[in-house]
Amino acid sequence: MIIKSAEYLISNVEYDKCPPATLPEYAFIGRSNVGKSSLINMLTNHEKLAKTSGTPGKTQLINHFIINKDWYIVDLPGYGFAKVSQAQRKKWEKMIEDYLRKRENLVNVFVLIDSRHTPQQLDLDFVNQLGEWRVPFSLVFTKADKSTQLNVSRNVKAFLNKLKETWEFLPANYVTSTEKKMGRDKILTFIDEMNMQ
Ligand code: GDP
Repeated sequence: MIIKSAEYLISNVEYDKCPPATLPEYAFIGRSNVGKSSLINMLTNHEKLAKTSGTPGKTQLINHFIINKDWYIVDLPGYGFAKVSQAQRKKWEKMIEDYLRKRENLVNVFVLIDSRHTPQQLDLDFVNQLGEWRVPFSLVFTKADKSTQLNVSRNVKAFLNKLKETWEFLPANYVTSTEKKMGRDKILTFIDEMNMQ
């Protein structure tokens, strides 16, 4: 897919204030610092479309971008901040659950996972929750340039094996590096195919 345009639209706290649900939508989420902004910027070929977070945990908003005037990217606030209060966490949970379960045009959620690490409980819990809610998702293993190929493939396998303990069907997965421009074509091809359905 060729990216002709990518524009920031709006940020919201409530899912029902989001732009009209008339275009296919793809959401991105993961732990803070997992490389979400960098990935969105790589996909859209825009260096500064999604802001790389200076103060993690500050922006608790649903951020909409419109791509090629034809589909939406949604940058969701990350999870797993040590410094977030219980009240803030509850607010995040409510906002994310509402958005993920109620947004009608949501086609797929890309859950970002740091490829350097063995499966983390926080990521497994989030993914299992998505499965329980029947929200379609794929896994994106980020920062692949930061460790060896062997280590990355071990970690991907270990994560999928963990999911196999509970789920019959395993999600699609992508390995990315914004440093090496890796994984971009595969993700955009997937989005293109979904948009055509
Ligand atoms: P976010 O908090 O999830 O939006 O994460 P950012 O996109 O702000 O990235 C966090 C840090 O990881 C930044 O310093 C990025 O430059 C770095 N980073 C993100 N993706 C990659 C990658 O694929 N390779 C490398 N080497 N660094 C990355």
